[in-house]
Amino acid sequence: MTAALIDGKAIAASVRAETAIRAARLAAAGTVPGLAVVIVGDDPASRLYVRSKAQACEAAGLRSWVHAMPADTPLERLVAFVHELNGDPEVHGILVQLPLPGRLDARLVIEAIDPQKDVDGFHYQNVGALVVGDPAFYPCTPWGVMRMLEHEGVAIDGAHAVVVGRSTIVGKPMALMLLNAGATVTICHSHTRDLSAQTRQADILVAAAGRARIIGAGMVKAGATVIDVGINRLPDGKLVGDVDFEAVAPVAARITPVPGGVGPMTIAMLLANTIRSAERAAGFALAAGETRIA
Ligand code: NDP
Repeated sequence: MTAALIDGKAIAASVRAETAIRAARLAAAGTVPGLAVVIVGDDPASRLYVRSKAQACEAAGLRSWVHAMPADTPLERLVAFVHELNGDPEVHGILVQLPLPGRLDARLVIEAIDPQKDVDGFHYQNVGALVVGDPAFYPCTPWGVMRMLEHEGVAIDGAHAVVVGRSTIVGKPMALMLLNAGATVTICHSHTRDLSAQTRQADILVAAAGRARIIGAGMVKAGATVIDVGINRLPDGKLVGDVDFEAVAPVAARITPVPGGVGPMTIAMLLANTIRSAERAAGFALAAGETRIA
């Protein structure tokens, strides 16, 4: 068996196209959806991410603002600025680019964001809504994975899903989304004994450990769907995932590449969350099943 490739670029493009249609519908009704991105300090990788987010917004008909603040910005100033954005009716989504420079407590800043504008889905209120299974802003990367699984017609209900990684931004919300969709979920981490014994059980395997190629062919069940969230740079500069793609592709039924897999979905889902927020603010009808606002 050779796995079918899950094309994240194509799926993300379809999400962005859908977003652009919704943005145009909002604009026609007098609301231009807007995303404010706050970046503190001058980390080059963060600056690059922020630029791509702003470009993606413009391409889809959203307005975006990038607010760059110096690395020595005091916490009180940053929180006060977030409060200003909370009160700005033109801003529907607020994203504070992480990580923040060392002495700033990211949790205090995230909690300052109005949960209804928390398009990253990191505020406790949105995290809690995800735990309960209520509609909320879901963290963009795992939500992007869910969209990929849906797009590929992967049966989640009743499947055994194994998530490698338990971070707050990927592993844990990923596990919760799969659980809410009816999967039986195993979460693995660096203390897991015999990782292979766990991953071999997976109908759906999500690797989010940030360890280059730790998932080899012997760790994957024949016919599994393998989603590789990991992004790792090798000493020679090559970008690889957590999955040994060449070894695993002949075993799996479907697999995501790195790059070109999960990566493009993250920004696409950020735009989708911002549109959703603008639709709520404009009083548009909620989508089916969306009964409560986070
Ligand atoms: P973190 O470092 O926060 O978390 C990594 C998790 O993997 C931890 O829970 C850790 O366990 C676990 N882990 C590490 N090594 C092993 C191991 N050998 N066996 C089992 N579990 C292990 O990373 P993130 O969750 O933020 O990101 C994970 C990866 O996804 C990274 O490569 C990151 O670059 C990528 N990423 C990609 C995105 C995209 O858009 N495609 C977006 C976000 C992240 P423990 O908790 O015990 O330490």
